[in-house]
Amino acid sequence: MIKYPIVEIFHSVQGEGFHAGVPHVFIRFGNCNLRCEWCDTDFLKYEELSLDEITKRVLSFGCKKVIFTGGEPALQDLRTIGSRLKEFGISLSIETNGTIEIDPIIDWICVSPKDQIYPNVTIKQVRGDELKIVYCGQDLSMYDELKSGFTHHYIQPLYLENESIESNGISFQIVEDIVKKSPGWRLSLQTHKWMGVL
Ligand code: SF4
Repeated sequence: MIKYPIVEIFHSVQGEGFHAGVPHVFIRFGNCNLRCEWCDTDFLKYEELSLDEITKRVLSFGCKKVIFTGGEPALQDLRTIGSRLKEFGISLSIETNGTIEIDPIIDWICVSPKDQIYPNVTIKQVRGDELKIVYCGQDLSMYDELKSGFTHHYIQPLYLENESIESNGISFQIVEDIVKKSPGWRLSLQTHKWMGVL
């Protein structure tokens, strides 16, 4: 019987990107193939849940939108879990680092590449709905080619939990300036963090 490494399953409001403000059920899978220094998820602590257990938890929220997140959700068999959830009319989104090609069963693909800190990593998912980059001083021209495969383009300031409001505010202002000077890019803020949701 297939089991998935699950950090948590919870019902909340998407805090960032195109669907900010829209309620979703989040399935946070364990494990990741990268180790970003700013990562805010303890993806190595998880429980192994069966498809039936996951489905039951998801359905208990009465919400027809699911986001696969992590860790790196594309490490999992998304075809199997996606097919099961779709039997209940659920639409599927994914937040991925783009290093693994995504199964076409996913309805909405958001790639947040980490090649600004891992220059040797290859982005394999070069098409999707949202490209969302975390800004840490990189030259935006590095995304010129990748951008063409995505409908929406977001820049997100790096929000560091252990930094002061003032320090995070400076990074917000820097990104605000960049967005003003960079046609086609939009600002994305991690509003869920202000609500106390990681
Ligand atoms: S890719 Fe995402 S989940 Fe993986 S280490 Fe980086 S920030 Fe964390």
